[in-house]
Amino acid sequence: MKKLITLLALVASSMAQAWTIDGLGEFKFEKLNNQVYVMHGPLQNPNAINRGFINNPAFIDGDNGLILVDPSGSKYIGENVLAEIEKISSKPIVAVINTHAHGDHWLGNHAIKDKYPNAKFYAHMNMIKEAQYGEGDRWIEVFNEMTGGKLKGTVPIVPSYSIGDQDTLQIAGQTLHVHSPFPSSHSGSDIMVEHKNSKTLFTGDNGFNKRVGRFDSASSMHNNIEILKFAKSLDVETFVPGHGQSGNAASTIDPYLHYLSTIKQEVAKGYEDDLSDFEIKPIVVEKLKDYEDWSGFEDSIGRHVNKMFIEVEDRDM
Ligand SMILES: [Zn+2]
Repeated sequence: MKKLITLLALVASSMAQAWTIDGLGEFKFEKLNNQVYVMHGPLQNPNAINRGFINNPAFIDGDNGLILVDPSGSKYIGENVLAEIEKISSKPIVAVINTHAHGDHWLGNHAIKDKYPNAKFYAHMNMIKEAQYGEGDRWIEVFNEMTGGKLKGTVPIVPSYSIGDQDTLQIAGQTLHVHSPFPSSHSGSDIMVEHKNSKTLFTGDNGFNKRVGRFDSASSMHNNIEILKFAKSLDVETFVPGHGQSGNAASTIDPYLHYLSTIKQEVAKGYEDDLSDFEIKPIVVEKLKDYEDWSGFEDSIGRHVNKMFIEVEDRDM
């Protein structure tokens, strides 16, 4: 009997305890509104401590099943995401939506596919193509380097259902509108998902909060600005960014929109005055003093000014 009580107490305490990452704290799903739950991930780059968990896995509580958006960056993290979901709902995961091709958002598909082989996986056509051409393996290699091999055992599960701008999905009694109005913004494969029932928008990495984004050659900072303005024009109350805290437009969309718009404005001005990008950088840093505590600011601001400079120059040709 004593043994049974001890066992029951152990089971109860493990149920109550959220997923804990040593050095980073507890991670569990927060309820944002009637139907949407988000686990806000750490804000750093992938490292040995976070094991590559840096994004915001989220789920929508549908009629007979759950819709999962961006299950995170590895099989291991995906399994922990699943364990936390199961503490909230016993409904099966019927659909998974990947917002773009960056591995920190979708390599966790592996864990979901293992447990729910019948779930349908959705993504932008370009993401599916990139993933079919080895993008997942490339991310696994990069993340293994950054995390000291913590992605061992993760296999890329490529979505099979292609979705694009203005598509409407009906899943588990829910209406989802897909937005992808530009050929590229944060990446070349972004979709934003609007959950009509709860007036929630999942921005993917078009939205960041307290952390700055990364812009590679496939991205467009100009379009990222426009897509954030577009996001604000929708009939939406709750915004879930790819990284950082969710909230309303003022708390979640405006700060990053201001960050990017300030870079655009100052680079355009400097370009007109025949300044080089490294001469413009200190002017931008001064204007963006309030962002000094954003994760990645110091490392990225020079690159962001340079990328914007190239875009401004291209538009001038
Ligand atoms: Zn991304």
